[in-house]
Amino acid sequence: MPRIVIVGGGFGGLAAVKALKNTPAEITLIDRTNHHLFQPLLYQVATSALSPAQIGSPLRGILRNQKNATVLLGEVTGVDKDKKCVFFRDADRQNIPVSYDYLILATGATHSYFGHPEFEKYAPGLKNLGDAAAIRNNILEAFERAETEEDPTRRRELLTFVLVGAGPTGVEMAGAIAVLVRSTLRSEFRRIDSSTARVVLVDMAPRILGTFSENLSEAATRRLVKLGVEIRLGHSVDLVDAEGVVVAGERIASKTVVWTAGVAPSPAGKWLKVETDRAGRVLVQPDLSVPEYPQVFVVGDTASIQKGKPLPGVAQVAIHHGRYAGKLIHRRILGKSALRPFSYFDKGSLAVVGKGFAVLQTRKVHLSGRLAWLVWAVVHLEFLETSSLRLTVFLQWIWTYFSGQRGAQLIVSPREMPKTEPPLRVAASGN
Ligand SMILES: Cc1cc2nc3c(=O)[nH]c(=O)nc-3n(C[C@H](O)[C@H](O)[C@H](O)COP(=O)(O)OP(=O)(O)OC[C@H]3O[C@@H](n4cnc5c(N)ncnc54)[C@H](O)[C@@H]3O)c2cc1C
Repeated sequence: MPRIVIVGGGFGGLAAVKALKNTPAEITLIDRTNHHLFQPLLYQVATSALSPAQIGSPLRGILRNQKNATVLLGEVTGVDKDKKCVFFRDADRQNIPVSYDYLILATGATHSYFGHPEFEKYAPGLKNLGDAAAIRNNILEAFERAETEEDPTRRRELLTFVLVGAGPTGVEMAGAIAVLVRSTLRSEFRRIDSSTARVVLVDMAPRILGTFSENLSEAATRRLVKLGVEIRLGHSVDLVDAEGVVVAGERIASKTVVWTAGVAPSPAGKWLKVETDRAGRVLVQPDLSVPEYPQVFVVGDTASIQKGKPLPGVAQVAIHHGRYAGKLIHRRILGKSALRPFSYFDKGSLAVVGKGFAVLQTRKVHLSGRLAWLVWAVVHLEFLETSSLRLTVFLQWIWTYFSGQRGAQLIVSPREMPKTEPPLRVAASGN
């Protein structure tokens, strides 16, 4: 049986495994997490609208009926493309080898701090469930601390939230935080007025949602302003530290800064020691294989096709890539004719801006408002991995829409007991 190793159970990798369902082969899917994650709704976990379990599905559960697929939990650290071997590590061991006849790398992307890795400590990015839970903790803790804070300046800092990056994720986060502070939290705090919280969206670009048309960008801007979001454009962030950010020489004091500004591809290009584009994505051939290694494929956010216009780093592209690579390998194994080069039809883009408002852009249609939001909701429900997720997310959205209450307004960070606190003494009865 041919051995197919697929690294990454995100949109691209999972689509490839599924495309190989009827292939007479041994498929090994390796991922460093045990779940497939629906990243487009991560911002809803970060803003307490959904719980982590509503956007993640265990890979073993998804593939339980696909008997030719085995799931391994581990982090891939290298590839020897000449010996056809992938190396991964798990909690106990390093450099565990897995041999392959075909390899698909679908390891996605991570945050990019544009040469300022020191910003990460103070401005976490939003890429996985751990990030989303940490940001949710930060936001909710800021309100809790503000409720007990006497100093108005410190209180102001605690109630200032800065989003760096005005692409879809930054805009969606800004809108969601604005709705959270002006509706849900307003009735829950007694000593602070949560609706006075500042939400500041910063970007060096001249407009928000730069990949959308100007009229949709303006519609989204108007909506954010109506929600009370301050938008600072045309300047990059000079500094991020424990006190907040500095933009164009002005300090914005804040205890919660979120980085949504840039992404960098996974190190797949370094593992393979092959040519990459300027961003670091592997330059693949029109059939998504690596030059001179027709049995090695790279798909999704970490790949760039050598010729033609670069495709956007979105889920649709990754899914199409994954399906294509899976089908191609299936045909090769069965000795069938090759596929035509990969081609992509862009169905359009969507971004949600607060409650009941989205922008939608396709080749023919530019739409903003409630109808676009309904389309957004249907599309996102449709792409969730399982029916149970679709059902729970749908019910949660309905509940939140009408009640204003959140699905997961929980601070779950492990807390240390204060070090100065004397140990508790329990008096024995009778003493
Ligand atoms: C916050 C956010 C919002 C987004 N919103 C949208 C949206 O609204 N619409 C849209 O179309 N796209 C959106 N995207 C982009 C979309 O999620 C990506 O384009 C898509 O996930 C790329 O798919 P992929 O398969 O390349 O990578 P991913 O889906 O990221 O999957 C990569 C997988 O590889 C695993 N992995 C990585 N490195 C290793 C390793 N060394 N060893 C083992 N496993 C590894 C990861 O755990 C992960 O499971 C969003 C992304 C983010 C972060």
